[in-house]
Amino acid sequence: MKMIIKFSSTILLVVAILLLISSPVTAAVSGFVAKGDDGNFYEYSYDNLLDSYALSILGSPDGYYEDFAGKKSYAILISNGKYIEYNDILDRYASALVKGEAFNLGEHAEKEKIKLAALPSEIKVVIFNSGRIVYELKKIASGGVEEEPGYRPRRTKTPLVGSAEVSVEQAQKWAKSREAHRRFIDIAPLYWEFAEKSGLRPEVLYAQSAMETKFGEYDGTVPPEYNNWAGLKIAEENGDSRENHEVFSTPEEGVRAHFNHLSAYVGLKPIGEPHGRYHLVAEQPWAGSVFYVEDLSGKWTPSEDYHIYILIALDQIFDTELEKEIPGPDDNDDQNKNEPESETKPKTGSNNPDKRHVAVDVSVLHFRGGPSTDDEILERLTLGTVLKVTANQSEWLKVITPEGKNGWVHGDYVREVDMDLPENPLKGKIIVIDPGHGGSDPGATGVTGLREKVVNLSVAKELIPLLELAGADVVTTRSGDHTVSNRARVEIANKAKADLYLSIHANAYSNPDSNGTETYYWSKGENAHASRFLAHQLQREVTSVLGLRDRGVKSSNFYVLTNTIMSAVLVEIGFLTNPEEEELLSKPVTHRETAEAMYEGLKAYFLYYR
Ligand SMILES: [Zn+2]
Repeated sequence: MKMIIKFSSTILLVVAILLLISSPVTAAVSGFVAKGDDGNFYEYSYDNLLDSYALSILGSPDGYYEDFAGKKSYAILISNGKYIEYNDILDRYASALVKGEAFNLGEHAEKEKIKLAALPSEIKVVIFNSGRIVYELKKIASGGVEEEPGYRPRRTKTPLVGSAEVSVEQAQKWAKSREAHRRFIDIAPLYWEFAEKSGLRPEVLYAQSAMETKFGEYDGTVPPEYNNWAGLKIAEENGDSRENHEVFSTPEEGVRAHFNHLSAYVGLKPIGEPHGRYHLVAEQPWAGSVFYVEDLSGKWTPSEDYHIYILIALDQIFDTELEKEIPGPDDNDDQNKNEPESETKPKTGSNNPDKRHVAVDVSVLHFRGGPSTDDEILERLTLGTVLKVTANQSEWLKVITPEGKNGWVHGDYVREVDMDLPENPLKGKIIVIDPGHGGSDPGATGVTGLREKVVNLSVAKELIPLLELAGADVVTTRSGDHTVSNRARVEIANKAKADLYLSIHANAYSNPDSNGTETYYWSKGENAHASRFLAHQLQREVTSVLGLRDRGVKSSNFYVLTNTIMSAVLVEIGFLTNPEEEELLSKPVTHRETAEAMYEGLKAYFLYYR
């Protein structure tokens, strides 16, 4: 996942890179510390931040450190309890990093005659421990928060930005265990959905909402019909009465506003048109620099210990375990009466790991160096990645990735896949290929005039024969430059009783810098899970073949996705409004490669999603 964080202009960046001065940087750097406007120190993990910083220097829109270089902030390298002042070395380091070149920071430090100084006194402890920086801030250590019941002092702060670490089911189970109101349990999936769009952690916002709404009971000032999940006020008011609070038209709008509100704190872009109060937050001097739950207190929050309640709730959510589905003898007496016992699918934790394969069943899964959450994250696996299980230890599975890497994943986030795979998974499948637009509707138009309808059709015409050759029964919504309504497209797919619907599009946006590939599905449909899985397969294949920016898998209520009754996705291959991507999309070879990638994605879907 990519984060977009902008530092405010006055932020003083202090980089603490723990390494032996003479060792190669790539191996030893694991994190760094930045000092914010408020004088507090924040820890960042190296791979999250510095890589993106490096990307930003090279002009990639994925880099979220864009302000840093321009502002001439300075960085400080910590080594053996010393720190070193820096100016541009970090820039050179970052650019070496993205080029994959070795860069010896220590060597440069010596050459540039960088002065050594004492460790900043605010940092109480800095320990280099198994590849992680572990440190405590004086402020936290002396704040007395350890005594709060149920609160475990953390070694590091709790980020607001990041991917979901718990499933929506886990959060809902927690809410139920707290006797939450039905509406609070029902709203949870929207938190996970907006999290994917915004980059904020859903469990954090959900925990905050639990506190703000008293688990949906709304027994405070704000009535439930305000759809206000976070006690958000209207732009103009500072009072605390009912009329000072914002009213949202739907529960979903309230969730969107909650995410947008926090986006202003961390400096992420809002989703859609933000509410009034958002603009007020965005004008604050600290806007865009509040990255941690711990730092919410003392901003606009009602109390100094505000964050502690969120942390307590988060601890409870993380401690909520989903039960394993272990079917008892009574559970299947309806459907499976005559089935022999050997037909029962193996469950996670089965004794015969050697023959098992599992597929990642969440958007992002941490692939770790060992069987615990304390072990290093080696990689982030995406939904649908198939792993070979070689061993298990309680809930953890030792697995091999398709690239042959060994590591561990938690068993709750994978599902069994049957590896007695059919030779030809596409055979007999009814697949609807829908080249977007056509006829009087040209779709997007590129900078030099390339029309989307032409690209979409050309890709479809490359894809269809591949599928037919593999034995699929392909239905297309248009085979030439015809006008076809969305209603007609849906009707074609539904009438065909298709197994799958794939709509092919190219993107457009007012900003020519916008670029990349994205795939849409509808997260509330009956086939949401299958569609999401399918979307991930296509997104992965298309991005890996074309090499464009991975904008990810997103949910959207496009007509063709909400009205089709099978697994349905819409791929936006690239941006016609981006000059480079338009050029790429004008080439027949790109259409063929895109089609081949889509073919692989469809095959993977039918292989593993059964
Ligand atoms: Zn389109």
